[in-house]
Amino acid sequence: MKEKYLKYRKEVHAAALWLSEHGYFGSLRGSGGNVSVRIDSENSMAITPSGVRYTDMTDGDIFVVGFDLELLEGRQGLKASMESEMHSAIYRKRPEVKAVVHTHQTYGSVFSVINMPIPALFDEVALSLGTLIEVAPYAFSGTSELARNVEAVLSGGANACIIQNHGIVALGASLDQAVLNAELLEKTAKIYHLALSSGKRLTTLPAEAIDIIEMIRKPADAQ
Ligand code: 13P
Ligand code: ZN
Repeated sequence: MKEKYLKYRKEVHAAALWLSEHGYFGSLRGSGGNVSVRIDSENSMAITPSGVRYTDMTDGDIFVVGFDLELLEGRQGLKASMESEMHSAIYRKRPEVKAVVHTHQTYGSVFSVINMPIPALFDEVALSLGTLIEVAPYAFSGTSELARNVEAVLSGGANACIIQNHGIVALGASLDQAVLNAELLEKTAKIYHLALSSGKRLTTLPAEAIDIIEMIRKPADAQ
């Protein structure tokens, strides 16, 4: 194993463990979800293995995979995440994204099964994730079709989306930011669910606030 990949493998393992221990993968003893980080100055990523329980995973189990899905480093007997194509499609489409987290978190998944986007409810969430958390259409786990559906929804610049009947994806300019974005999505989804269940009328952010947030979020070269 190459020394230069060690820090990325450790980072991915630590983030995956945190997400697992905090229930983001839906089951505490399972292997659902996956985490990756972009490798600097390479068209490659470090990504969690497929089907390995987080309680058993070590940093030596993390794979290094090219964006063309060429295997660069990995443990014999294991495979890289089945969603590697989804992660690489996002890195290719969004050069500023440095990390991708795919989870099966509970409240995000509620909106995946009612197939309902989450609007901008709070300034800080809209600033971090985008003014609408959209739903990418369902396709079977691990397929190129799923990768394309998620890529299409995230191509507009949002840092998170819901995947219909599956879970969510969160992105960031660092792995820490991607995990924080998954956490922000869960907070928003939980509050939106509770607010909808109250039967009371909801308010979303006013149009002027959304305009300001969209201006702030626009990349500098597009302004
Ligand atoms: P992997 O274990 O292959 O990463 O797959 C888990 C998953 O969440 C599939 O969508
Ligand atoms: Zn999944």
